[in-house]
Amino acid sequence: MKEQLKSILKSIGVYHPLQSLYRSILRNFENLRYKITYNRYKGKGYTCNFCNATYSKFVPEYPSQEISNAIYTNKVIAGYGENVFCPNCLSKNRERLVKDVLDNFIHFQEKKILHFSPEKHLFRYLKPLSDITTIDIFPGFYKYIDKKIIYGDATDLRFADNSFDIVIANHILEHIPDDRKAMKEIHRVLLKGGVALLQCPWSVSLAKTIEDPSINDKAKQAELYGQADHVRIYTLEDYIERLKHSGFTVRTIPYEELLQFSRHATQVGEPVVLAYKGNA
Ligand SMILES: [Zn+2]
Repeated sequence: MKEQLKSILKSIGVYHPLQSLYRSILRNFENLRYKITYNRYKGKGYTCNFCNATYSKFVPEYPSQEISNAIYTNKVIAGYGENVFCPNCLSKNRERLVKDVLDNFIHFQEKKILHFSPEKHLFRYLKPLSDITTIDIFPGFYKYIDKKIIYGDATDLRFADNSFDIVIANHILEHIPDDRKAMKEIHRVLLKGGVALLQCPWSVSLAKTIEDPSINDKAKQAELYGQADHVRIYTLEDYIERLKHSGFTVRTIPYEELLQFSRHATQVGEPVVLAYKGNA
């Protein structure tokens, strides 16, 4: 019955918008709950770089039991830990990191930006300052963030060569089976001198990327890769190699250089990879 209803809703094109609405209502309730329960932590400590609220601690997030083995055994920097969500606006550590990198390393004002699966706070920050286009394979999910979002498959982008100054695909490539094709497509649509911000979860202990294209089973993927819709766990070295093979010049900003942003409760230990078309 549930599956039948789902396929009817999908066939008339309202399934994803409804799910998106449902999720946004849940998130609003969650946000209200944190605003109340974290009131006692208000004050010195961390500052959200989106809403400027300050708290001595942010909301933590830990992996569920089914995925914790993959995350912890392989030492994956995946966004979990203490101080993940801002209690005031629910921005996430990985969004706050991208904002810091944009603010400090990239000239994005009035540039043409392609933003995959747009994160709410990042999109709202960039929209008035740039010429931003958003895409997703299920655009309905993101209608509440950007009404103008369009369908887009990273491995087959419907944009001309040299269309964008900046591409932001934050935690996207680990979901895509043919990630090399997606990297090449992103490189193709970037203007020369353009830059892509393509952060992914990386293992700091594995010697080799874990992936097996023959696996198509959500439970198995959760157990192996730490999320049911992920198709691999990269090593940072292999990830950078794949970017280089796709034509990018790569500049890695080590975590030590990003420590200056730790007051924004960014992800502990996460380096940033900037992928340039042309010289870095
Ligand atoms: Zn905030």
